Amino acid sequence: MQPSTFRRAAVALAAATLAFAAQAQGYPAKPLTWIVPFAAGGPTDAMARDIAQRTSTQLGQQIIIENTPGAGGTIGSAKAARAPADGYTFLVGHMGYMGAAPSLYKKLAYDPVKDFDAVFRFPDTPLVLLVGKNSPYKTAEDLIAHGQQNPGKLNFGNAGVGSTSHLVAALFASRAKVEITSVSYKGAAPAMTDLVAGQVDAMFDQTNTALPQLAGERVRAVALTSDKAMPQFPGVPPLGQKVIPGFETATWYGIYAPKGTPREAIQKVYQAYTKALADKAWTDKMAAQGIRMLPDDQYTPDALAKHTATEVERWRKVAAEARISLD
Ligand code: ASP
Repeated sequence: MQPSTFRRAAVALAAATLAFAAQAQGYPAKPLTWIVPFAAGGPTDAMARDIAQRTSTQLGQQIIIENTPGAGGTIGSAKAARAPADGYTFLVGHMGYMGAAPSLYKKLAYDPVKDFDAVFRFPDTPLVLLVGKNSPYKTAEDLIAHGQQNPGKLNFGNAGVGSTSHLVAALFASRAKVEITSVSYKGAAPAMTDLVAGQVDAMFDQTNTALPQLAGERVRAVALTSDKAMPQFPGVPPLGQKVIPGFETATWYGIYAPKGTPREAIQKVYQAYTKALADKAWTDKMAAQGIRMLPDDQYTPDALAKHTATEVERWRKVAAEARISLD
């Protein structure tokens, strides 16, 4: 590069940095949008709305939830990846479409690591295996025995191909050696409607949305995916304790921004969230829903970025071992 060209480039860069620094002072100047890639009323939507509301109060700016369901979260994710990287559009991402999807889809319209900047991680949420209120199955062993005697006859509802309800059911089937039939919806909420109506036999749902259904006695819980029993689910055993030794899983979530989003915007949103997390009454409320708080250093943008990369790798093995297919 000629010295004059170099100087011009340096001047342009300095001007751009100053322009954003000036904007960053006023950031956020308008409402933020968080894309939830599932139907409203499901576990992702419920967590996102709660966290958005608390974060928004600290940020002093509204956060609008935009539900963009379909294809296990991958449609909304692709939309978020292509959104302007200006600090106003974010994705509520989870283990499925931001961890497992690259191993499941031959062609994925985005790369969870290369196309996004991590902003912050949510607490994790275990899942619970539910059956209909009038189901003949009282335990996970009953379900497995029926499934083994009648291959393909057990219908498991899920939130879409590659959603956590789908992935966890596929892992369960693989480890328990049963052949199940997956029935996909545009989110856990419509899947739950069909479970309650007796249209499907079972479903793995997150604890936060399973609890109100259990309280209303619309469904029954037969097993947990947590490593230990949970007081919110009295008498419900963890699958890993006896039925499938070592089985343990929870959905992880994070907020992501399109790659290239200004660092200052990411920091402001992350800091607003950490201020919200300092409210113990709120974190206690989440914990009461079975949501699992993490060590403080696990919520940071860097920790989420590392976690995402590690999970994309981990799922390559898990998906291959469990032979999770998209059919
Ligand atoms: N998180 C749910 C799942 O992946 C979907 C939803 O929130 O509707 O199963």
